[in-house]
Amino acid sequence: MTLEFETVPCLSDNYAYLVHDPDTGATAVVDVPEAQPILDALERRGWTLTDVLLTHHHWDHVDGLAALLEQAPALVTGAAADAHRLPPLDIEVREGDVVKIGNEAGTVIDVSGHTVGHIAFHFPASKLAFTADSLMALGCGRVFEGTMPQMWESLSKLAALPEDTVICSGHEYTMANAKFALSIDPDNPRLISRSKAVEEARSKGEPTVPSVLREELETNPFLRAGDPGLQAAIGMEGAEPADVFAEIRTRKDRF
Ligand code: ZN
Ligand code: FE
Repeated sequence: MTLEFETVPCLSDNYAYLVHDPDTGATAVVDVPEAQPILDALERRGWTLTDVLLTHHHWDHVDGLAALLEQAPALVTGAAADAHRLPPLDIEVREGDVVKIGNEAGTVIDVSGHTVGHIAFHFPASKLAFTADSLMALGCGRVFEGTMPQMWESLSKLAALPEDTVICSGHEYTMANAKFALSIDPDNPRLISRSKAVEEARSKGEPTVPSVLREELETNPFLRAGDPGLQAAIGMEGAEPADVFAEIRTRKDRF
C-alpha cells in the first residue's frame, strides 16, 4: 500500500508532514517547526511516531525536535553534510542514500542552494517528494548559502522527477509567489488560473500545498527558465537557463 500523509501547519507559515505506512504502522514526520501541532496530529490519527526526517538546519524546520522527541521518541535522519549544525542525528545521509518509512524506500536528493546541505526526500512508489525550502509552490527558497548555478541544478533534479509527483514544500508563501510569477509571466493562462485558485484557497484559510510537479512545470517561473516565452518576457531570449534562473531569482529578491 502507498504511504498516507497529512500536512501539518506550524508556526505562522511553516508546514511539517506526517507520513504513515499502513502496512507496518511506521510514521515519519518531515521537519519539526514546533512540537505541539505534530503531537496533536499524531494523536488525532492514532499514529505512533517512528522517524524524523530533517531537510535542513534552519530553526523553523528543527526547533520543535527536542520537545517532540520527549513525547514521541523516534530515529532522526538528516544530512551528513550538516551533522555539525543539525540536532543530534541517528542516521546521516547523502545524495543517493535510501531512507525507509516502514516498507517504502525513498531516495535522498541533494538540493543545496537555499542552504548548502539541504536535502529532499523522494518516495517514488507513493509519488511524494518532500522539498522544504528548495522547490516550493510557485516558487523556490531564497539562495542564502549556495550559488545560483547550484540552486538551478538542484531545481533541475526535482524537475526531472515524474510529473505526477506530489511536491510537499515547507511554507505557505504561494500567494506572494503568485504575485511575483504573474509580474514576469502575465500571459500564462495556467498561471492565471492557478493564481485564482490560490487566492480562493487562502481566502478560506486552506493550504495551497502540496502541489503537483506538473503544475509547477507549467506555472512556476523558477522551473521555466528554459522556456522561450518566459525568456522573451524578461528580455533574455536564447540565454542559458541557469542565467535566466539567476535573473528571475534576483528579481524575486527585490520584488
Ligand atoms: Zn529554510
Ligand atoms: Fe524555512
